[in-house]
Amino acid sequence: MIDLRSDTVTKPTQKMREAMMNAAVGDDVFGEDPTVNLLQSTLAEKFGLEAGLFCPSGTMTNQIAINVHTSPGDEVICDQLSHVYNYEGGGIARNSGCSVKLIQSTNCQISLEDVKTKINPSDSHYARTSLLCVEDTVNKGGGVCYEFDQLKSLSEFSKEEKLAYHLDGARVVNALVAKGHNWESYGSLFDSISVCLSKGLGTPGGSVLLGSQSFIDEAHRVRKVMGGGMRQTGMLAAAGLYALENNVDRMIEDHQKARLLGECLKDQKWVSNVVPVETNIVVFELDGIPAVDFQAALAQNGILAMPFGPTKMRFVTHLDFNDQDLSSTIKCLEQMPY
Ligand SMILES: *Cc1c(COP(=O)(O)O)cnc(C)c1O
Repeated sequence: MIDLRSDTVTKPTQKMREAMMNAAVGDDVFGEDPTVNLLQSTLAEKFGLEAGLFCPSGTMTNQIAINVHTSPGDEVICDQLSHVYNYEGGGIARNSGCSVKLIQSTNCQISLEDVKTKINPSDSHYARTSLLCVEDTVNKGGGVCYEFDQLKSLSEFSKEEKLAYHLDGARVVNALVAKGHNWESYGSLFDSISVCLSKGLGTPGGSVLLGSQSFIDEAHRVRKVMGGGMRQTGMLAAAGLYALENNVDRMIEDHQKARLLGECLKDQKWVSNVVPVETNIVVFELDGIPAVDFQAALAQNGILAMPFGPTKMRFVTHLDFNDQDLSSTIKCLEQMPY
């Protein structure tokens, strides 16, 4: 089967497994796992932030960040299609007792204009606006990336307004590679960043939350409360370190494959729109064909993909989608009986 459902479906390679097997480990709840500590400090340094915290998932790193940056009753600003709002089980309300103010931005990319009118007055009638969350790359936006200046203007505005500024960077490495951003100047824009190791980086699991030392100290407490403290988890962290060494620059190959899929789709008469492909995600609109029917037709040809709306589909390229898979997929798309 060719699997284009998500970049989370990759399996660790033999070399990654060897790095995991050979990892030095200790009790990470005590802060004594050398491999976890190395992963946390390596990523923090790359992004120009002080410290990191290894967690089981990107949902947890986002939810911890939201919890640390807010108090119950506060309001969080995010896009209506953001992961933190849509796909984290209502965690903003459930874990942190906050309400949200949703932005209807273009391609889910929040602009300064979008945010300006969304901050509540300091009058006691209103919830206190305390956090702005952005996502890069933007999953629902078809994997598009922010321009550096847009993120910078939001950073400056957040400082002025005393808002915390969090990046859901589940696929931030895809954005850094695609845009050629300097990691450090990019990272320094944010108060906190969540980075997933289990997406394009291809590890079996784990995310790292980054921020100032005092933020991470508090995050460590919240991770414990949420049940995310793990012990000899250096084996998983070793996969992350391996991925940072070996799986970053090659992401450009995933982006190229996605671009070629996008170009092929544009030529098909049964496709009414393809969101411009910037990274490893291809989102396209079918011309009146129900997405579930299309999904079934693909599956019959040995290709798995996900509906992204009633007539919308998403393909995600990744480490385990090779050149041969790409040509088979293109051939299959060209021969769809529509
Ligand atoms: C995958 C993802 C996350 C985190 O998901 P987990 O499955 O909890 O690791 C967060 N934000 C975005 C945009 C994602 O795509």
